[in-house]
Parts: sequence; structure tokens; C-alpha cells
Amino acid sequence: MKRYLRLTLFFCGLFLLSFGFAAYTNQLGPPLPYYREETQAGVPIKPAVVEEGTIVDIQESYSFCRQSGFSCADRRPLTGAPRQALNGKGSEEISLLYSSAEGWQVQWEDGGAELLIWRTKEGFCPEHTGYWHFEEGDRGNIEVYQGPAGSGKLGELTLSTTIKVNSLPEAYQEKVRNGSWQFQNRDDLQNVIDSLDS
Ligand SMILES: [Zn+2]
Repeated sequence: MKRYLRLTLFFCGLFLLSFGFAAYTNQLGPPLPYYREETQAGVPIKPAVVEEGTIVDIQESYSFCRQSGFSCADRRPLTGAPRQALNGKGSEEISLLYSSAEGWQVQWEDGGAELLIWRTKEGFCPEHTGYWHFEEGDRGNIEVYQGPAGSGKLGELTLSTTIKVNSLPEAYQEKVRNGSWQFQNRDDLQNVIDSLDS
């Protein structure tokens, strides 16, 4: 008998809950995020618009720089004229300036007090493209990869030499193995390779 009582109470509770939820959605519509562009079912919703005090950050990062943890991939505050140009604008107007066709994403944070505009491109950023560095290859040889020190083997393998890393002085071995030996100039790179090869 006691068991049936519990079961009955359980279903009564379930019924009340679903009734409550149905009444809620009937009156107010489905639960929605705080910010919307329109109003719905008589609930005024504040549209997200950039105001003078809105913090706007921009993050235009390149995948390899981001994976390497380079500071060029960090988000930073948007300043000056580009920041001023956003005042009074909502998501749709912002998307005209930073279009999704160009990979931009617009994201409100902190209940609309902050806006992040971001996109990620492939490869290294323009600043970090013009670098090469040594890595140790599978055969214990020196390999040259595109990208600065710290980017590992993310960049393109530019050259695979026959120079054995363990034939080098210890300090050089260390520099190759931890990927910290970098070059910004192809001639410098070639000169070092020639001198190590002799
Ligand atoms: Zn970079």
C-alpha cells in the first residue's frame, strides 16, 4: 500500500511540474538568453548595443601563432577610430563592418557589458612568417622549419639536412633540440648550415 502511495505522489508531482512549465512557456515563450534584438511575448528585452562604456576586445589570431602561445594571438582592447565607430551599433550593424564572410565572429560577454570580435586565420601571422628555426628530425638530423623559435614543427618543413645533431657541440645540440635556434634571414640560415656541415 505504502508503495502505491509513493508512486501516486510522484506522478502528482510530475503532473504539477509539467503543468507549471506549460503555463510558463504559454505565457512567456521558451526560456531565452537575456539579450535579443527583438521583444517577445510582452517581455521587453534590452537589445545589445555598443555604448561609450562597453569594453570591446578584438582578437585576430593565426592558428600557428595561437598554438605556439605567441602574444600576437592575444585578445586586446579595440581603440581609437575603429572603437568609436561601433558606438550605438547592434550586432547586425557590427556584422556589416566585421562580416562573417571574412571569418569574423561577434560575441557578447558579461551580460552585454563586453563585446569580443574575433577570427582565426590559418598559418603564421605576417610578423611571424619570415622566420625559420632548427628542429631535430626523426633520424637525429637537423631539419629547418618555417616559423620562429617555439613553434615546433607546426610550420612547413623547409629543409632536411644530413647533419647529425649529436655531432654538434653540446650547446648547439641543446639549441636544436629545444627549437630555440631561429633565423630571420635566409642567408644567415644557409651560412650556419654550411659551417655546421663542414
Ligand atoms: Zn604571430
